[in-house]
Amino acid sequence: MVDSSCSCKGASVAPLFRVIGDVGGEFTLDRCQRCGLVWDSPMPDEQLLNEAYQQDYYGSQTTKFNPIIEAWTRYSGRSRARALLRQHGKTDASQRVLDIGCGRGVLLAGFQQLGVESLGIERPGSGFEAIDGVETMTVEDLVRQGRKFDVIVLWHVLEHLPEPVQMLGQIELLLADDGSLFIEVPNFGSLQSRLFKKNWFHLDVPRHLFHFTPASLKQKLMGKDFETISMHTFSLDQNLYGFLQSLLNSIPLLPYNHLYTLLKPGASPWRMFLLLLYVPVVGVLSMLAVLELAVSNLFGSGAVISIHARKRNRENHD
Ligand SMILES: [Zn+2]
Repeated sequence: MVDSSCSCKGASVAPLFRVIGDVGGEFTLDRCQRCGLVWDSPMPDEQLLNEAYQQDYYGSQTTKFNPIIEAWTRYSGRSRARALLRQHGKTDASQRVLDIGCGRGVLLAGFQQLGVESLGIERPGSGFEAIDGVETMTVEDLVRQGRKFDVIVLWHVLEHLPEPVQMLGQIELLLADDGSLFIEVPNFGSLQSRLFKKNWFHLDVPRHLFHFTPASLKQKLMGKDFETISMHTFSLDQNLYGFLQSLLNSIPLLPYNHLYTLLKPGASPWRMFLLLLYVPVVGVLSMLAVLELAVSNLFGSGAVISIHARKRNRENHD
């Protein structure tokens, strides 16, 4: 079979397994035999994606989860912004940061607090333009305007895009020669992905169109003249929660992503009651989740792929 959604044109494709999407019924995950990239087949169309994103995916413009998790998310946004700038090597106010697919701007707010020039972009119609620093525009718009950025961030975004390789090409045009590109995506090659297959929480079909392994992501970056400066697969929250929810998803009769749905805002008494029932279950399963975190981290097969890349041959441009 050569009907490929991968940029490796003409490479053969192998089906891996079937997944039931939140909407759109059943999908097959297909893998490119040349680079290892995996994608949903059939590829979800625009109409299906609109339906998938309408399902309260983003949460309201200010909150997505209950207050405790929300506070943790905001704190993580700040410390992540600080860590990324440190990795970039320059933290002064002249640094221009672009957060592509910034959502409700959690990471963007972190950058703003650090005083760097920050722009977040979201797709038109997402309703985030009311948030400070967020504009609904495309990368193509920025390229047309001749804009340049010192730091470009794609945080759990690349897997949502119908043309990820084309996006990397646009980023190449937007990134300053000594700039940093930071990408984080779920790790399809992770221990938890291998353990739970179709029940893996971070598959998120049909919103995630592509599923990357460290090798396939690096290959796509290299194809666009980026070199990987550093890579890790560790993420405390993505790892722990990913394991926990995937394990719960593997229990027959329990609704898919049930706990995740309960954690969203809107606390009815019934919901609170169900959440309380989860407390002892989560307590016990958390020990397994910590064990999985330790083991997967030891073997470099954690739940995410977090990459710091720079343009190759950038010396020539300086
Ligand atoms: Zn390929």
